[in-house]
Amino acid sequence: MDDCVFCKIVAGEIPVHTLYEDAHTLAFLDIHPDAKGHTLVVPKAHATDLLAATPDIIAAVMVTVQKVARALMQSLGAEGFTLGMNNGAAAGQVVFHWHTHIIPRAQDDGLKPWPGKSYKSGEAEAIIENVKKYLV
Ligand code: AMP
Repeated sequence: MDDCVFCKIVAGEIPVHTLYEDAHTLAFLDIHPDAKGHTLVVPKAHATDLLAATPDIIAAVMVTVQKVARALMQSLGAEGFTLGMNNGAAAGQVVFHWHTHIIPRAQDDGLKPWPGKSYKSGEAEAIIENVKKYLV
């Protein structure tokens, strides 16, 4: 993809701080980190988002995510890590080349992102019934 920033990074046309690379994946530091060591893991082959990625590429990416997350925990002394994945503009995706954020975490680091809400009576059951129609 000519106009994809992460394809350019994979091709070595834009410099990044690379942590790890193998045949199918690349892990590099996010240019605007939410925490020290905030890393992006991308497939080398262009896929817009998770839904566009093939199962073998998803597997390769997740193996790299685990490898890098473990190394970040050990090297930085992080107490945990959050995985982030924005799929679609409404979810906050800005770069449309599938990527997983690994954000090293510490107790009370103030990075809690999501509000916990509640279901009304019958709402959860209706959602499950509807979703099941689309699970193939
Ligand atoms: P998202 O909102 O999930 O699409 O996040 C895209 C991420 O890519 C953001 O956190 C950016 O800081 C990061 N990013 C964009 N361009 C670069 C770059 N050239 N090098 C490293 N990270 C980048």
